[in-house]
Amino acid sequence: MAGPAETDDVSAAAARVDDPRIAEVLARWWGFDTLRPLQAEALRAALAGRDSLVVLPTGGGKSLCYQLPPLVAETTDVVVSPLVALMKDQVDALEAIGYPAAAIHGGMTAEERQAVRDRIAAGELRLVFAAPERLVNTGLLDVLARVGVKRFAIDEAHCISQWGHDFRPEYRQLALLRERFPAASIHAFTATATPRVRADIARQLELRDPAVLVGTFDRPNLVYRVVPRTDRATQVVEVLGRHRGEASIVYCISRKETERLAERLAAAGLLARPYHAGLDARERHATQEAFARETIDVVVATVAFGMGIDRSDVRLVLHTALPKSLEAYQQETGRAGRDGLAAECVLLYSSADVFSWESLVRKSAEESELDAADREALVAAQLEHLHAMRRYAQAARCRHAALSEYFGQAYPAGACGACDVCLGETGSLADATVTAQKIISCVARVGERFGVRHVCEVLRGAATDGVRRHGHERLSTFGLLASLDQRSAENLVHQLLDQELLARTGGDRPVVTLNERSWEVLRGGREVVLLEPRAARAKATQADVDDWQGVDRDLFERLRRWRRRVAEARGKPAWTIFDDKSLRSIARDKPDSPAGLLRCRGIGEKRLADFGTAILDLVAGKEPPTDPA
Ligand code: ADP
Ligand code: ZN
Repeated sequence: MAGPAETDDVSAAAARVDDPRIAEVLARWWGFDTLRPLQAEALRAALAGRDSLVVLPTGGGKSLCYQLPPLVAETTDVVVSPLVALMKDQVDALEAIGYPAAAIHGGMTAEERQAVRDRIAAGELRLVFAAPERLVNTGLLDVLARVGVKRFAIDEAHCISQWGHDFRPEYRQLALLRERFPAASIHAFTATATPRVRADIARQLELRDPAVLVGTFDRPNLVYRVVPRTDRATQVVEVLGRHRGEASIVYCISRKETERLAERLAAAGLLARPYHAGLDARERHATQEAFARETIDVVVATVAFGMGIDRSDVRLVLHTALPKSLEAYQQETGRAGRDGLAAECVLLYSSADVFSWESLVRKSAEESELDAADREALVAAQLEHLHAMRRYAQAARCRHAALSEYFGQAYPAGACGACDVCLGETGSLADATVTAQKIISCVARVGERFGVRHVCEVLRGAATDGVRRHGHERLSTFGLLASLDQRSAENLVHQLLDQELLARTGGDRPVVTLNERSWEVLRGGREVVLLEPRAARAKATQADVDDWQGVDRDLFERLRRWRRRVAEARGKPAWTIFDDKSLRSIARDKPDSPAGLLRCRGIGEKRLADFGTAILDLVAGKEPPTDPA
C-alpha cells in the first residue's frame, strides 16, 4: 500500500500551494506538492512581472523560482549563469522531466548554436541559459528581442558586485538588459546575504522597486563539526568511514594535497579522485562526470570544485583546512544535503592555517596593482573575513547559532541538536592551565627562538637530532608532556596561539614567543581552557534517524544501483534521473500501482511514463531492464 504523499522539505515551513496554476505545473512536471519558504513570493513576483531580488542559501530552491514561471505563462525566459558546467547540469535535469530548455555557450559548434537560436525563434523553448558575455556580445539579444522576451533571471547575481566573494567583471555588462528590454522584468538570485552586496546588485542591475526576498540561512539538516586537526589523513579516513558508498567532497587548500590525499584514500579502498584547476580540462571533466554518475564517491578538491556540481545527495563536506571566510564556508558546506536529507560538515581546524592565510593575503596584496590605500583596505577586509572564520572554528558555541548570527539572523536558543557543541562531543582538556604553563615555560626555556615543532619535540621528550644539536634534551622542560603524541602537542600549542596566550613571528620560519598574557598564565593569574585534541565520537542526530524512518534500506540500495545503470546508459548525472529523497520516498511507501507511485515524492507525469514500470518491478522484487527509454 502506498502511504500518503510525503510533505517534503528542508525547513519545516513548507507551504501548500494556493495558486492552482502553480500547483498544477508543480505536480505535473516536478512531482512536488509544496513550496519551499519564499518560493511562492518569488513566483508571484515573476508572474506579475515585478523585479525581484531573491536571497536563499545554497539548496534553498532558487532554480524553481525561474524554471516554473515560463511554463505557467507559456513564455521563453532567459537565465544568466556564470559557468557552462552549471548550465549543462541544469539543462540535463530539466530534460529529465521533459522541460524544453537549452544552453547556448562557446563549447558548442556554430550549427548547434544556430539550432538553439532556431528553437528560440520558433518559440519552442521555455528557458534559455547563457553566460553574460555571450548574452550581450553575440547578437543573441536580437533573437530574444524578436520573440519578445519578458523575463530575465540572473543566477549567482553577487558576481556583479566587487564586495561579493566571487566578483566577475563580465556581469557588469548586464546593466544593458534594462536598456534593451525596458518592458521585461529582472530577477536576481544569490546566496550571498550581506546587505552591501544586496544593495549593489539592485543598483547595478537597475532593479525597479524589486520584491526583496531574503530567506533563512540556517540549514537544519546539516550537522556541523569542528575537529582539532592532528593527523589529517587519518582523520579524513575516519570521517569518510561514516559515509561509505555516499557522495563526499573533501576540500584541501593546495593542489598537491588533493593528489596526495586522494592517493591515500584510494589506497584505503575508497573510490576517490583529486580535482583542481591545475588538471587538464579532460581529466577534470572525467572526474566531474564520474562523480555525477556515481562511479566515484569522493572528490578531493580545491575550492575550484563545486560551482558546477549540482549533485543533491552529497552527504559529507569535509574541510581539511580553514576556509578564508564564513561566506566561503557557508557556500562550500551548502553543497551538502541539498536534497534536504541529513548531511555532515566537518572542519579540521588548526590555527596554523590562519597564519598561512594571513601571509597569503599580504603577499597577494603586495603583488596586486592597487595603490597603497586600496591595498591596505583590501588586506583589512580580507583579514576581517579570516578572523570571523577563525572565531567560528575556535569558539565552543552552537555552530548553527554562530553561522545564523553572522549572516544577520537570530537563531532560536536550544533548537540545534545538530552540531558538535550541542551534541556534547567537544571535550575540554582536564588540566588545561597546568598544561598551558608547561608549554609556555618550554617556549621560554628554548629562548623564544624555535618553531612549534621543535618546542613540541622538547615537551614530548623526543631526542631528535635538532633537539640534541641545541642541547635541549638537558632542559628542565624536556619530556614534561611525554604522554602526548607530536600532533596532539602541536595542536595544543596552536590553541594557545589562537587564544593569544602565545605569540608567533611572521616570515618563512616563524618562531613561537611569549607575550604579556603568557606571563599571566605562568604566574597563575589566568585560567586556561583547551579542547581535547582527540575528538570524541560523532553522535547520530535526530535528522539522520528521521530521514531513514520506515525506509526499506535494501530496496533503497537496489533503486540506487538501478539509477546508476540508467545514468550510465544515458550519459547523464544520476541525480537528474532521480534524487535520493525521491528514492527514499519510494523505498518507504513501496507503491504497487502507477497511482501509488504518483503519490511518491519527485514523480510527475514524465518520470511515471519513463520509469514507472521499472520502479514498480523493482519494488515487486524483479530486476527491470536497464533503460526503458
Ligand atoms: P539552489 O539553486 O537555491 O541552490 P536548487 O534550486 O538547486 O537550490 O534546489 C535544491 C533542491 O531542492 C533540488 O534538488 C530541488 O529539486 C529541490 N526543490 C526545490 N524546490 C522544491 C520544492 N518546492 N519541493 C521539493 N523539492 C524542491
Ligand atoms: Zn548547535
